[in-house]
Amino acid sequence: MKQSHLFTKTRKDAPADADSPNARLLTQAGFISQLAAGIYTYLPLGLRVLDKIKNIVREEMDALGAQEVLMPALHPKHLYDSTDRWDKIDVMFKLDGAGGKKYSLSSTAEEVVTPLVKEFVNSYKDLPVAVYQIQDKFRNEPRAKSGLLRGREFSMKDLYSFHADEADFLDFYEKAKVAYLNVYTRCGLDAVVTAASGGVFTEKHSHEFQVATDAGEDHIYIDRASGEVMNREIIPEEDWKNEEKYEIKKSIEVGNIFPLECRFSEAFKMKVPGADGKMVDIIMGCYGIGPSRVMGSIVEVHNDERGMIWPKSVAPFAVHLLSLSSKDEEVQNRIDNASEDLYQGLKDVGVEVLWDDRPGVSPGAKFGDADLIGLPLRLVISQKTLVDDSVEWKERTSTDMNLVKLSDIVASVDAWMEE
Ligand code: ATP
Ligand code: MG
Repeated sequence: MKQSHLFTKTRKDAPADADSPNARLLTQAGFISQLAAGIYTYLPLGLRVLDKIKNIVREEMDALGAQEVLMPALHPKHLYDSTDRWDKIDVMFKLDGAGGKKYSLSSTAEEVVTPLVKEFVNSYKDLPVAVYQIQDKFRNEPRAKSGLLRGREFSMKDLYSFHADEADFLDFYEKAKVAYLNVYTRCGLDAVVTAASGGVFTEKHSHEFQVATDAGEDHIYIDRASGEVMNREIIPEEDWKNEEKYEIKKSIEVGNIFPLECRFSEAFKMKVPGADGKMVDIIMGCYGIGPSRVMGSIVEVHNDERGMIWPKSVAPFAVHLLSLSSKDEEVQNRIDNASEDLYQGLKDVGVEVLWDDRPGVSPGAKFGDADLIGLPLRLVISQKTLVDDSVEWKERTSTDMNLVKLSDIVASVDAWMEE
């Protein structure tokens, strides 16, 4: 993409109410735009990142054997009468529809997915089933804050699994943990699994995926003796500050998986004949991950005083090609031609390039924008580099700069992409 074509612009100043690095940097760089507290538009650069994260999640869910669906976000109230949750989910947005009907905006989807899967499951032989969706969720958070970390409308991947017995459920649950950890690793996040309270449904623990960073609102407790990692909820209150017993770190919850036992299958009378013909209860699990919160977390972890530092896997583009301006028309023509060739050459081998082709923008402004936007590899073509028939190569994570011959550059970038 040519930067001259991008309708968004970077801005010099951070928005006054940006309360965290992700809110500040993503807004300044033109990745997102705030409509109201906790409600954001994803602009072209930001949408590319969000889509890449969603695709990583999708690949890992598909590898787990789960099937993607898209359920409605508008939920009729009667579903929640079956589970008695209409007045229990405190963050639920409720709407009045035509004819006195009541609806909610999806904050989670057990009430939709359970009757849905029930339609198709007639016997233990139809199990297990695992379905997921990637959909916006709506939660009336009392305090929306920290940019994408806590939104009122946010992206969630929610997966639900259905099993005929406990052993099958546990096997899937453990595989889901691995799939989740794969997602975070691929997104450049170092997440740990923590035991957390199971919530209202189960005596068992749920498991959270936490990324340690000072931007987090959560705390993880690492037992110094056993190495076990726990959420604060399951630490006795008198131990909350016990740093002799625990290493305590601030962290962001980037995912949460729960054993649901038979809470929802019972509510929707979902039972099937087992191998011996007797009716069996269906055991469920639910598994949530927030792609938009993951995006915010990546920025919290990967930034410096100049801007964002995107991992290659989720960067909006892999390469930022900068053509510096020259006052000499002949030199300018050579810069433009070399840049155009390189832009095409990289595109031809499938490398995603943002080309800063803006005429009349100073080198300083182009370098500043490149650091702020934070693409992994910056390539500069200028009068100076062309003296050597070369391009300047600089990675965002390093201070090293090298000249690479124009004749070698496409192959070098192609090899770097594979690293
Ligand atoms: P929190 O404790 O942070 O409020 P939660 O435990 O209520 O989150 P879950 O119901 O477990 O959230 O949702 C699953 C995942 O969805 C979370 O692990 C997180 O990644 C994401 N998520 C939840 N709430 C939000 C939000 N308000 N904004 C962005 N992402 C969210
Ligand atoms: Mg949670």
